[in-house]
Amino acid sequence: MKGVTIKSVLIAPCGMNCALCISYQRDKNKCVGCNGMDAGKPNYCRKCAIKGCEMLKGKRKKFCSFCEKFPCARIKNLDKRYRDKYHMGMIENLENIRKLGIREFVRKEKSRWKCRNCGGVVCVHRDDCVSCGKKVF
Ligand code: SF4
Ligand code: SF4
Ligand SMILES: [Zn+2]
Repeated sequence: MKGVTIKSVLIAPCGMNCALCISYQRDKNKCVGCNGMDAGKPNYCRKCAIKGCEMLKGKRKKFCSFCEKFPCARIKNLDKRYRDKYHMGMIENLENIRKLGIREFVRKEKSRWKCRNCGGVVCVHRDDCVSCGKKVF
């Protein structure tokens, strides 16, 4: 999908950058991201135990990196899955959010995930760029 932009609101509490997700990048039945409405959101994200975690309730900074239990088992499991399969890790993202702040983190994400062929935002769930089809991983 063309016209994807990485924005702070697209960074989930777990450190996932929803702009890189295939459910966000597809044209049909699109998910608007973890922090958005439930329409189009797959069940596993709608019922996500991290997003719904009690420890995030009432916190100003809604990222797991500011939690005293970080990195808890849920984050470790998700991090491992993404490091093994999807070229990124939640723990690294969350540590960078804590260290750099969300704005600087987003700025770096924009250059990290830019397709070298078309300048679009690549998808971590696909080996080829959704916009131009060029192999990226
Ligand atoms: S499916 Fe989940 S990870 Fe993907 S954009 Fe939606 S909320 Fe984010
Ligand atoms: S690190 Fe774990 S316990 Fe803390 S807010 Fe995130 S999911 Fe909840
Ligand atoms: Zn491309």
